[in-house]
Amino acid sequence: MSGLALTVLGSGDAFATGGRPYSSYLLEPQEERKGEARGVLLDCGPTAVPMLMAMGFDMARLDLILLSHLHGDHVLGMPMVFLDAQFRTKRKNPLVVAGPPGTEAKCEALFRLAYADTLLEMGRRFEVEYRELPEGGESEACGLRVLPRKVVHQIHEIPYGYRIAWRGRTLAWTGDTQWDEAVVDLARGADLLIAECFTAGFQLKFHTSLEDLERNRGRLEARRILLTHLGETMLRRMAGGKLPFETAMEGQRIEV
Ligand SMILES: [Zn+2]
Ligand SMILES: [Zn+2]
Repeated sequence: MSGLALTVLGSGDAFATGGRPYSSYLLEPQEERKGEARGVLLDCGPTAVPMLMAMGFDMARLDLILLSHLHGDHVLGMPMVFLDAQFRTKRKNPLVVAGPPGTEAKCEALFRLAYADTLLEMGRRFEVEYRELPEGGESEACGLRVLPRKVVHQIHEIPYGYRIAWRGRTLAWTGDTQWDEAVVDLARGADLLIAECFTAGFQLKFHTSLEDLERNRGRLEARRILLTHLGETMLRRMAGGKLPFETAMEGQRIEV
């Protein structure tokens, strides 16, 4: 069975600390299959499109965008994806955008703010198919089975972590969250866990610390764990010596 390749497009926090692009990943099957996604973007912050361009990714192959939550560092690249699809890629096939409730309203509002003339005067030349995923229920999107799990990160919007099953592999992704039992559930039996780890040495509401993960290391039953969304204190800790976890780096490619 052919597996998946995950490319890290960004491992930075909401401030792009250390010049790291905002947290985002590209998931690709190693072998194409009709009716299934060829490229899946996990979160779409302002640096997602430049990173895809830098790696020479063909934007016409982007079939699905899965959003963890609707904060700017995770969605502000959406107008740029739409702009590319309209003028550069001249996209013909529909683009599926899946995420928590509110995804459609947020993405459309961002596009209107950024390029109202494009949308209103010219009309969009491609179809965007929004899927707002219900919490706790498994959904199918472009061949992927996606199970959203509510995490602890926002008050007025629903933030998700995900379990993604595709091609016999399971990917767990926490999105942004403070430490929660949901992370243990997401990680169970996963081939790869992408875990937010914003801080080291102190605790910040709505985010995970290195100490949270160290304390619960034995309960995270994933084959491989990758820390991301790295803030200033994490980068300092990383510069100070080896950590008990692997940390994500832009351009890194992982066979899942
Ligand atoms: Zn974030
Ligand atoms: Zn966030």
